[in-house]
Formats: sequence, C-alpha cells, structure tokens
Amino acid sequence: MDLFDELFYQDPYIRSFDAHVVSSEETEKGFEIVLDNTAFYPEGGGQLADTGTIENIPVLDVRRIKGKIIHFCTAPLEVGRLVHCNIDWDRRFSHMQNHTVEHIFSGLIHKKFGYDNVGFHMDDDSVTVDFNGPITEKELMELEKETNQAILADIPVHVLLPTEEELAQLDYRSKKELSGQVRIVDVPGCDQCACCGTHVKRSGEIGVFKILSMMKHRGGVRIELTCGLRAITDYENKIREIQKISELLSAKPTEISKAVEKTLSEVEKLKLKIQNLNNQLFELKANSLPTQTEPLILFEEGLAPLDLRRYCTLLAEKNKAPFIAVLSATANTTYSYVLYGPANQMRELSKSLNQKLKGRGGGNGNFVQGSYNVDASTIRQTIKELWNQ
Ligand SMILES: [Zn+2]
Repeated sequence: MDLFDELFYQDPYIRSFDAHVVSSEETEKGFEIVLDNTAFYPEGGGQLADTGTIENIPVLDVRRIKGKIIHFCTAPLEVGRLVHCNIDWDRRFSHMQNHTVEHIFSGLIHKKFGYDNVGFHMDDDSVTVDFNGPITEKELMELEKETNQAILADIPVHVLLPTEEELAQLDYRSKKELSGQVRIVDVPGCDQCACCGTHVKRSGEIGVFKILSMMKHRGGVRIELTCGLRAITDYENKIREIQKISELLSAKPTEISKAVEKTLSEVEKLKLKIQNLNNQLFELKANSLPTQTEPLILFEEGLAPLDLRRYCTLLAEKNKAPFIAVLSATANTTYSYVLYGPANQMRELSKSLNQKLKGRGGGNGNFVQGSYNVDASTIRQTIKELWNQ
C-alpha cells in the first residue's frame, strides 16, 4: 500500500467499512489482525489509536509495526474472510476535533510569540500542550478568543502532500526532522504543520474551544485544553458543582467565592473560640488533679495533637507528676500521644514504648509525641511497668 493510502487518510470520516483479513496471529497480547486496508487509526503523532469492532470482536489497540497496521483483538479471524468493521466514532471524532484545535491554537501561539509546541499529550480525559516560553493569563485569554474566532470562521482544513521543491517553499511547524513524503495540515491564516493524524474538514466542526488551566513547565508553560462536546460536558459538570456549592452556602452562583471566604473566616474564628474554651477546660481539669509521684496517664476524647501538647505542657508546668502521658483515640486502637518526662530519659523511654506499643514518633528534651497502635489498657500498663523498672 502506498504512503497515506490508508482509509483513515483517504477519508477520515469513514465510520464503518469492509476489508479482507490478511493475517491473524495469536500472541501474548491476544490476536493480531492485519487487514488489506483499514480505517482504524494506529497510535501516532500524539493521537490515540482507534477502538471499535471487527465482526463484533473488540479492537483494543491499533499500532503501526514495521509498516503494517496491527489490530489487537480479543479473538482470531479467518484469513481471506471479508469482515465488517466499526470504529468507535464519538471517540475518534473527539480526537479529530482536539487534534485540529491543537494545530490552530499552537499555530496562533507560534505566530504571536514564536514559541514551539514541545509536548502534546492526549488521552480520553484530557489534552495538554507544552510551549517553550512564558504566556500571561491575559495573553492566554486573548489566544482562546482568537482560537474561537477561527472556529466560528469555519475555515477549511487542507491536507497537502507537497513535493520536495514545494515543501522547501513552505514555512511549516514540525516537531522533528522529517524525511520522505511529508504530510502538511494547513489551516489558512492560522497554521501549517507537519502531522500524520486525522483532522476535521472545517474548523467549525470543533464547535467550541476552552482552556482549562495553565501551569509553569520547564521554562515554558503546560496548557490543558478541551473542545467540542467534551467542553460542553466539562461546562455542565462545573455548573452542577457551582449549583451545589451555591445551595450549600445559600449564595447566588456569581457570589460563591465571597460566601466561601466569609465561611472560612467564620471557621477560623470558631477554631480560636474552641481553643480558648479548651484552654480553660485544661486549666480546670489540671487544677482538679492531685499531684503524684506515679506516672499520670490521661485518655482524653477528641483532642488534636496540638491540644494534647497544650494540655500536657500545662500539666507539666503545674508539676502534676514526674511523667505525664496525654492520649486521644484517632481510631479503634490508634492513639495520638504526647509524653512529658525527665529530659535525660525521654529518648530511651520513648524508643522502648514505641517498640512495645507498635508506635511511632519522637521529640526533643522533655516532650515526645506520636501515635500508638494498641488498646488503652496495654498502653497504661506498659507505661507503668517501664517507669518502675
Ligand atoms: Zn494533527
């Protein structure tokens, strides 16, 4: 077969076709089927392989290996047989839209800033493009608008197979040095780029283009984008989330960020209030405890590590005992702890307790903190035993 003679190049809109089975071989990966021609696009040029069926047998992957297009299937097929094939069209069309819009967008960036598209990743959930230079938020919004204007202008997308002389005259983008026949995808006014993928016929078929995010990446930027029905689905999902948040906060959808800020500042105030109340409670509890020479071991309910630390510090300041353990359960047999004791013994004590109580953690000076993974009575008993040794 000649170069670019495959059905997906002759007509990228073929959704189903008939072909003869040339070979069918069982391998570790399943069954490798070769057809006399195919509309299944093999992975390449940043575009994913098509999926679909051959005579109702699922096609899981398609690759070009040593010039042959291999369909990875779940069952064998008789060599010579005429088979009916169906491509998962919604998925493929989405790839065509994404690939085409990536050309327009990258072309516009190249024209404006001279940056190259240095990385392209497309899967069923997201598309990212990397550029080797910085772009501001404002510039990005402008580029998004220009890309959407190019979509609205419904520009025809041409595929060119230029001769070497013709190619020399073209100013086109390419990710690598090319040899042999080069295939150029031309979107007049926006981009000319060497590409072996499948594209829509007119830019209008992309429908709508949306940038989802931009982050710094290797001295340039990584931009996540979406288009077509995927963009609409993304829009629907985001509207639903906003509505949920809006109902939860009893705020208009356009005012949710303000409402979240207000809620967060209220949460901060409440945290401070709880902390003050806890401090008062710790003071009262500490005062009600007798001073003792035996280890003071207290199990408290629902205290965060910082509260444990505060309570333990207060008890130590009041010299309630030479050794103090304050613990709080975080799960059935998991306890957060803060221990206080003589600075010259704490390191050893903490190490032994961790070993015996399936614990972790440590510290400096008089205090250590961490967690134990045994029941409360074991903790109580082990601390007493070790202290009295
Ligand atoms: Zn392309």
